[in-house]
Amino acid sequence: MEYDLIIVGSGSVGAAAGYYATKAGLKVLMTDAAHPPHKEGSHHGESRLIRHAYGEGEKYVPLVLRAQALWNELQTLSGEKIFTQSGVLNLGPAQSEFLSNAEQSARQFSLPLEKLDAETLMARWPEITVPSDYIGLFEPDSGVLHSETAIAALIRLAEEAGCAQLFNCPVEAIHTDAQGVSIDTSEGTFHGRKLLVSAGTWVKRLMPGLPVTPVRKIFAWYQADGRYSTNNRFPAFTGELPNGDQFYGFPADNNELKIGKHNGGQVINAPEERKPFGAVSTDGAEAFPFLRQILPGIGGCLYGASCTYDNSPDEDFIIDTLPDAPNALVITGLSGHGFKFASVLGEIACEFAQNAPHRFDLTPFALSRFNHA
Ligand SMILES: Cc1cc2nc3c(=O)[nH]c(=O)nc-3n(C[C@H](O)[C@H](O)[C@H](O)COP(=O)(O)OP(=O)(O)OC[C@H]3O[C@@H](n4cnc5c(N)ncnc54)[C@H](O)[C@@H]3O)c2cc1C
Repeated sequence: MEYDLIIVGSGSVGAAAGYYATKAGLKVLMTDAAHPPHKEGSHHGESRLIRHAYGEGEKYVPLVLRAQALWNELQTLSGEKIFTQSGVLNLGPAQSEFLSNAEQSARQFSLPLEKLDAETLMARWPEITVPSDYIGLFEPDSGVLHSETAIAALIRLAEEAGCAQLFNCPVEAIHTDAQGVSIDTSEGTFHGRKLLVSAGTWVKRLMPGLPVTPVRKIFAWYQADGRYSTNNRFPAFTGELPNGDQFYGFPADNNELKIGKHNGGQVINAPEERKPFGAVSTDGAEAFPFLRQILPGIGGCLYGASCTYDNSPDEDFIIDTLPDAPNALVITGLSGHGFKFASVLGEIACEFAQNAPHRFDLTPFALSRFNHA
């Protein structure tokens, strides 16, 4: 049996690729070391932000707009709650580069974005306190993706469409040549025409040359109340402190508000080094500076979790084939901001398997920018 597409890693991107490729009529094998959704990769902790006016640069906007359309479609098809349109408020000093990129993205793509000065912002959301030189950029159409629900839905729909799924079975090696691709597992060797390598943080175990650094990250839930919930129109948010630290958070659910710090974390070299929340002495207090300054009404830390970023050197994605393996597409280096794109990245992998031309400009995500051999 030869598959049209073999997927190594069926977490965020791989789950989407499995569904779109099967729906397109391809013979697909999805594999995973665990059974997604799970807590060993980068997608757990219930929720992920989706922002359209993109602080990381406008090259991402066409991708995120397509991703949003696919998430909306998935919500309809699956009957599950995949997206909550809470709006996203981006906060920071008026001269913040992230905010100016977000503003530029909105201008270039005519996205709705409200710019608020500190006084107007605090009048609209009295739960938020910002210094007088801060601004807020509010995106009404963005919000929260329910990441684990989304992956479960993609995997279920892929299976119902006839996709082969081999879970709890790590891929031990991949082979590519001009004829095709194959993977080795404890269940045997499987052959295909094309390969998607979407193995997340530990992709270097299969492709050691990739410039990807695993980083341990944490997020935690804090005591909140109804004022911080979507019922009170409290938004999801990103926030930059005067010292440059970047935080992100979600409207409270069940009186618990989740917050995390985007920069920082601990570089790790093996999955066992990703210690649980609380094992690093700074974990419990990591969000305090943001909470004290910006959300002073939030209470104590209830619980937290650890997760992993797969950082590329410039924190932009890697979406490319290797020079010696044109049948294998690698999607990695999502650097802690990739979930929102998982749907469109899955669609891109499906088009790769169909030999269809790219709809998006993927040159900013090429490996050659690192002089990768
Ligand atoms: C704390 C935190 C907060 C984040 N916040 C946001 C956010 O707000 N918005 C946003 O857009 N993104 C966010 N992200 C980033 C986003 O979650 C990730 O970029 C995305 O989930 C990565 O998707 P992936 O498919 O590459 O990896 P994963 O979803 O981790 O999937 C990789 C899969 O590969 C499997 N695998 C690994 N090795 C093998 C092997 N040898 N054989 C078979 N399978 C294998 C794993 O088991 C896993 O299921 C956040 C990440 C973290 C950690």
